[in-house]
Amino acid sequence: MLGLLRNTQEPTRTVDALQPGASGDRGLPPAGTETEIERLRGVIAQLMHTAAHDPLTGLLTRGLLLERLQNELAREAADDARIAVLFVDLDNFKLVNDSLGHGSGDEVLSEMARRIVGCIGPQDIASRFGGDEVVVLHPHAIDGSGEALGQRILAALADPIFISGKEVVVTASVGIALCKPGVKSAEQLLREADTALYAAKDRGRARLVEFNDELHTRVEKRLQIESDLRAALRKSQFFVEYQPQVRLKDGCVVGVEALVRWRHPVHGVVAPGEFIPVAEDCGLIVPIGRQVLLESCRQLSEWMQAMPGRPLAITVNVSPRQITEPAFFTELRQILAETGIDPASLCLEITESVMMSATEEVVRVLNQVKALGAYIAIDDFGTEHSSLSRLRDMPAEVLKIDRSFIDGLSSEPGDTAIVSSILSLAYAMGKHTIAEGVETREQAAMLLRMGCEVAQGYFFSRPVAAERIGPMLSRALWEPRSARALHSAHATEGLARRGHRYFIDEFLDHIGAPMGTKAGP
Ligand code: C2E
Ligand code: MG
Ligand code: MG
Repeated sequence: MLGLLRNTQEPTRTVDALQPGASGDRGLPPAGTETEIERLRGVIAQLMHTAAHDPLTGLLTRGLLLERLQNELAREAADDARIAVLFVDLDNFKLVNDSLGHGSGDEVLSEMARRIVGCIGPQDIASRFGGDEVVVLHPHAIDGSGEALGQRILAALADPIFISGKEVVVTASVGIALCKPGVKSAEQLLREADTALYAAKDRGRARLVEFNDELHTRVEKRLQIESDLRAALRKSQFFVEYQPQVRLKDGCVVGVEALVRWRHPVHGVVAPGEFIPVAEDCGLIVPIGRQVLLESCRQLSEWMQAMPGRPLAITVNVSPRQITEPAFFTELRQILAETGIDPASLCLEITESVMMSATEEVVRVLNQVKALGAYIAIDDFGTEHSSLSRLRDMPAEVLKIDRSFIDGLSSEPGDTAIVSSILSLAYAMGKHTIAEGVETREQAAMLLRMGCEVAQGYFFSRPVAAERIGPMLSRALWEPRSARALHSAHATEGLARRGHRYFIDEFLDHIGAPMGTKAGP
């Protein structure tokens, strides 16, 4: 017990007073004497202190903070002071626990509490609300003192912590909400501070966000989406569109990416970017993702039956919430069995950020998927900081080059260099590549020359309804016009070297242009 609460009046007795043998026949003063009364007072005070404080951090319990907050909110609003509530939460605390063990995690929490208490004023109180979440009540906030307190806490927590000789750096996020007495309930003020904390995490962590009307509107909208999503599941308003994936050397459709859409009764068709993040947060991504996977496999099976012997793969986006669902792998196997599709024609897409921060649990499931014969692709590759050793160890066979690099293929030498490097890396690691977001013939031709195998994008086709895919399976979606591109793609030298050489050609073209030496296409 650290006894961290400021202003605490309780006498600091040790727990020895509660131990058998500490008094009585075995030393107890006679009942009713002043010494005995004094002793009992001490025991009661100790019990009350224990009940009021969190055993690990010594901070006040949640119940007591709530009681104090309610009292503050009920007081007369005599001056301009407002009541501020600050939600403080460590960023990535789970990582500390997972990597250093729970003992170290506890030490970090104790130190966090000590530092927070070092920042608060004599009228403020701090309470552990659970896990790594601490709530600070600053009952007399004037002239931005609440925000200043939050910033002091952020700065204090950002200093390294030394645990068993190791330096641990943990940052925190703070959400703050303020109101005058009598305006809001304790629950509402806490909810608003929590919302602000959530926004701080969302905006990149290690920062303070104050609750305001705009945040309020956003939260309302979010809650509305969440409730609409629940209804959408019940009413089967989700459907899947498919975007062809084209083999660059001959324009043949070799696969399709399944992309979910929501037919909203009021807003029309809603794109996944609008609702997937909400569905991920509230867990609805699990049933939505299950529907998408089942529908995609069912659709693939229908195409396969219509065109036996025609090879076709399907790639389906999955979110981490789905993969960590205990039933995920069993359900995947069931879906494959029900629809009768070969696991080798299914590829699960996982974004690079998820892949790089994948827990052991996620990697275990991905390995099971791989062992089953299905493929794993890293989506939006190049946008995060991939560690090469992690990339080597991950069970992913396909890299999907993010659209942002394809955008600049013809105009930005930097993007050309990145695409070229990704292709070389993929080749060296024995992985396949799919370029995303190809919008022009020029981009397709460049990718082909650089050694990219497969691409998708509006240039070939937008995502379309299933019935529009059928006719695309029997024709080429493009024909490479330039013999040079084709020749280059078929050349016997390694893809990796080809990628690099292309980049060097480009670079020479670029710097040679002013002297009139730029080669034609
Ligand atoms: P993504 O998996 O990277 O999908 C590619 C996105 O780029 C799709 O957007 C697609 O319509 C769009 N796109 C394709 N070609 C082009 C192009 O040439 N130019 C441009 N500007 N865009 C192109 P969409 O359908 O809005 O999906 C957005 C994201 O939502 C997806 O990105 C994926 O991360 C997520 N998503 C979609 N469906 C699902 C799903 O069923 N489950 C999960 N968990 N996420 C999904
Ligand atoms: Mg994708
Ligand atoms: Mg992508």
